[in-house]
Amino acid sequence: MIFRVIKKEELKGLFEMLAAENRVIGPVEIGQDRNAAPIYGFEQVSDFSRLRLEYTTTKLPAKKYFLPYKEDMAAFRLAGRDWEKTVDYNSDAPNIFFGLHACDINALNKLDKVLLAGTYPMPYYAAKRKNMFIIGIDCEPQPYCFCRSMGSDTVMHGFDMFITDLGENYFIEILSDTAFNFLKKINAAEPVEADHVRYMKAASDRHLKFSTHVDTTDLTKILDMEFQSDVWKQWGDRCLSCGTCANVCPTCYCYSVEEHVAIDLLSAKKTKMLYSCNFIDFAEVAGGHNFRPDRHSRLKYRYYHKHRGFVEAYEEPLCVGCGRCGEACLAGITVPEVISSVRGGMVKHG
Ligand code: SF4
Ligand code: SF4
Repeated sequence: MIFRVIKKEELKGLFEMLAAENRVIGPVEIGQDRNAAPIYGFEQVSDFSRLRLEYTTTKLPAKKYFLPYKEDMAAFRLAGRDWEKTVDYNSDAPNIFFGLHACDINALNKLDKVLLAGTYPMPYYAAKRKNMFIIGIDCEPQPYCFCRSMGSDTVMHGFDMFITDLGENYFIEILSDTAFNFLKKINAAEPVEADHVRYMKAASDRHLKFSTHVDTTDLTKILDMEFQSDVWKQWGDRCLSCGTCANVCPTCYCYSVEEHVAIDLLSAKKTKMLYSCNFIDFAEVAGGHNFRPDRHSRLKYRYYHKHRGFVEAYEEPLCVGCGRCGEACLAGITVPEVISSVRGGMVKHG
C-alpha cells in the first residue's frame, strides 16, 4: 500500500484535473430540512466550490449511477418477419466518485459479490461498475450510524484512493496505478512519521465518536430461533409497506422487469426498476398467489436477507450500518431497534 500527504489546497487541483475530461460525481448540498440543516446528495459537479466533503450522509446513496432506479434493458423492433434486438448497457462515460464514505464503498463491494461474482452476473451493473474511479473520504460518525457494528466503518478495497483529513493536510491511501499517476501531477509528498502519528490519532478519535452500537453476536442463530417471534408482528403493524427503506439503502438491489409493447405492435422494450421486498406484491406470482401477503412477513424477510441469508452466503451482512433506512422511515423503524428487540429488548412504540 502506498501513502501520500498533500496540502489541503492541492485537492482543488486534483479535482480540476479529473473534471477536465471526466464526469465527476460528488456530495453537494441539495436543500435544507425543516431545522435548516443541510440535506446532501450525490450529483455531477464541475465546480470544486460546490463539493461538500464534510457532508454527513446523503439522503440517497450513489447507487442511482450504477443501479438506476429505472433503466431500459433492451429494445425490440419488428424488421420484416424478424425482431431486431438492441441492448445498451448505458455506460457511455467513466464516472469519477469524489468523496464516498467507507460505508458506501463497502456497500459497492457487497453488491459486487452478487452482481459481478454471483451465479447470475448483471451486465448492466458490471459495465458501469468497471467504468468507475473512486475517491473515498473519511467521515464524522452521526448518531444514527452503526457502521462500526457492521464492520463497515473502514474499507480495505474497492476504491482508487482514500482521503483522511489531518487538519492542514490530507493523508491519502493509494490503491490503483491510475490514482498514483494522478497524484504525481500534483504536489504530493511521502508521509513522515509525524503524519503517521496524526493519522492514527485521527482514526482513534473518530472511533470514539460512534454512539450507536448493534450487538451482532450470534445474530444468525438468534434470527433462526426467533423466526416465529411476536416482535416481527409488532414491527410489521407499524410498517407502511412504502418501500422507502429499500430505495435509500445502498445495498438493496432487488428489481422488477416490465415489458412494454407499442400499440402498433412494431416495437417493444424491456425496463428494469428497483423494487422493494416490502411492497405488497413483491412475492406475488403468476396466478395471483402471494407468498408474503402480511406486512410483518415482508419486513421480516428483509431483515433475514440482510442479516441471515447473506451472512450464510458471504460471511458478512448485507447492511453497512449507514442508518439511512431508519432516518427515512416514516414509521420510525430502525435497524438497531429491530435487532435489539429480536435479541430480547423492548419494541419502542412512538
Ligand atoms: S420499514 Fe419503514 S421505510 Fe421500510 S417499508 Fe416499512 S414503513 Fe416504509
Ligand atoms: S439496511 Fe439501512 S442501515 Fe443497513 S445499509 Fe441499508 S439503509 Fe443502511
